[in-house]
Amino acid sequence: VININNLNHYFGEGSLKKQVLFDINLEIKAGEIVIMTGPSGSGKTTLLTLMGGLRSAQSGSLTILGEEICGASKKQLTKLRRQIGYIFQAHNLMSFLTAKENVRMSLELHDEFLHENIDKKAIAMLESVGLGHRVDYYAESLSGGQKQRVAIARALVSHPKIVLADEPTAALDKKSGRDVVELMQKLAKEQGCTILLVTHDNRILDIADRIIYMEDGQLKNNS
Ligand code: ATP
Repeated sequence: VININNLNHYFGEGSLKKQVLFDINLEIKAGEIVIMTGPSGSGKTTLLTLMGGLRSAQSGSLTILGEEICGASKKQLTKLRRQIGYIFQAHNLMSFLTAKENVRMSLELHDEFLHENIDKKAIAMLESVGLGHRVDYYAESLSGGQKQRVAIARALVSHPKIVLADEPTAALDKKSGRDVVELMQKLAKEQGCTILLVTHDNRILDIADRIIYMEDGQLKNNS
């Protein structure tokens, strides 16, 4: 589902131009859980944002779900973003909305759910992340681990084919971090979804089918 060939990426222009990704080649198959690790500043988040269509790739080839998105238009990138679930370190929930409303928002972006009972769907998803008793709680009143579970529910409720997760355990203690990634792993396997997860957290590496290592903008042990 993800094919990257000879991808390079730069920030800045003119004399400030700096290359941050060098000749990246990577293939991720449907249903795989891949963890990308490596030192701070090595380019992991940059690669993740390119794959998610959050910024436009500059040179090389980046095919996501069969579509070439290197040099793609804003319209194409928007369409791609709807097919991907995102989970970030800071969970990015709307704190003044309830858990259910946060999950519903993700469904409201998709025309195919317009005729379904999205409230019911959001509640069922919250139940599957163990938050059936918190659906009407405001996001700001939940614990860190619970917020991250809501973020997982929001990312997976629309059954995306790909989930991109950036440091999803960084703000959590050991036990909650472990619970959160095991939950992601379980739901992804059930839904047949592909996960690319960026982390510094060595304690969760074992949930991956494959680990890739980024250093100085290059993928090292890529197979
Ligand atoms: P971390 O683990 O600390 O998040 P990372 O491996 O995800 O690091 P990136 O955030 O992708 O690394 O950053 C790679 C390089 O690109 C760094 O040198 C960073 O300073 C630079 N960089 C990232 N975003 C921008 C930007 N918007 N403009 C300019 N340079 C940037």
